[in-house]
Amino acid sequence: MSSFQKYYAKLTETADFLLHNPELGYKEFKTSKKIEDEIHKISPGLKVEHYLDTGLKVDLTNGSQKTIGIIAEIDSLYQPNHKLADTNTGAAQACGHYTQVTTALAILNEIISNHRLEDFGANLAFIFTPSEEFVDLAWRKEQKEAGKIDYFGGKQEAIKLGIFDDIDYCVSVHAIGEDFDERTIEINCDLAGFNFEYFDFYGKASHAAFAPDAGINAQSIATLFNTALALQRQQVKDPNRIRFNPVIVGENHESINVIPDHIKMGTDLRFFDIDNAQKLMNRFKQAAEGCASALGGSVESERQVGYLPLISSKSMSAIVKDVFSANEKIPGLIEDRGYTMAAGDIGDVSFLIPTIQIGYGGWNGTIHGDDFTLVDPEFVLAIFPEFVFNSILKISNNLDQVKTYKKTKEEYLTELEKMEK
Ligand SMILES: [Zn+2]
Repeated sequence: MSSFQKYYAKLTETADFLLHNPELGYKEFKTSKKIEDEIHKISPGLKVEHYLDTGLKVDLTNGSQKTIGIIAEIDSLYQPNHKLADTNTGAAQACGHYTQVTTALAILNEIISNHRLEDFGANLAFIFTPSEEFVDLAWRKEQKEAGKIDYFGGKQEAIKLGIFDDIDYCVSVHAIGEDFDERTIEINCDLAGFNFEYFDFYGKASHAAFAPDAGINAQSIATLFNTALALQRQQVKDPNRIRFNPVIVGENHESINVIPDHIKMGTDLRFFDIDNAQKLMNRFKQAAEGCASALGGSVESERQVGYLPLISSKSMSAIVKDVFSANEKIPGLIEDRGYTMAAGDIGDVSFLIPTIQIGYGGWNGTIHGDDFTLVDPEFVLAIFPEFVFNSILKISNNLDQVKTYKKTKEEYLTELEKMEK
């Protein structure tokens, strides 16, 4: 019996605890404590480094030149309608991140209990990262204003703090939100980057029936702006790799008989090409100003930097494919989708160093929805972690086949600054 099978019963309990204790980004205190407890159950002597209150890092060094980071996201999504949502915070494991944690623990358990560290051609670092989901934005904004964080993504903050300074390659995993007929993994799937932009349209209130001529309708400006963005789509380069979704945000305090004097809108802009995205964001601003001025109102805009796109390492994925071809437990492989317009702060890591994300099925319901559920625990908690272990092992012993690059933290922060303008 492999250590993955032996650890399966224990890991089922851990998964159950995490599933029932979902927490929002930067506040994963119970999750973080649980992970640390489980690490110390695997080996009481392991040194656990703490960062950002809830982030954890365990370095396993075998004297190699290079280090592979193994990522597990520890936060939950905001999905108050999920059947296992926390009733106070609305947090729920609707993105399956808790099984990234169990995957990392299963790999760590194999390395320690079967003394496997020397088999690897690289040092390993287990990095448990907070706050991947881009939610709870009002609270994060307060934290930012108070100087506690600069970025909403936990990996972004971790990079800034130097947690990735000594990492040369990165392997991450993520649940796939689809039903499959057979056990399935996915490789070579890039993720989009994104930015948020907010527009406050200002008009002038007046009695809507008695004196509409004295008012300037902010709602009409917003409608015009929505139309401008819809027409803008014709002028988008590479339209299949761009998304934007303008919506009215915030509460409406107006009454029906008053011409509204303020409407707040927001849109994301999802992209793969940062320069193209910058151009488009500037056109959005130009359209907002034009629409406001056309009806005699005004606009203020504010940008919230999101994540960089994940450009996954094709050469690392090729090694994972070799491991897949030799494996007998997982029959399904998706390798040709190329990209999705979903995003994650793993993209920021891929800006620094060669990075992959291996997707795994075993779920049903809608990812990020109210019914997302693990339906194949044996696959997700035992078979898949063993597959990831074998993949990292093979990558570590074939690093000469991996196309390598390493950008500095400073280069990364400059890239983010570029997105802010
Ligand atoms: Zn996720």
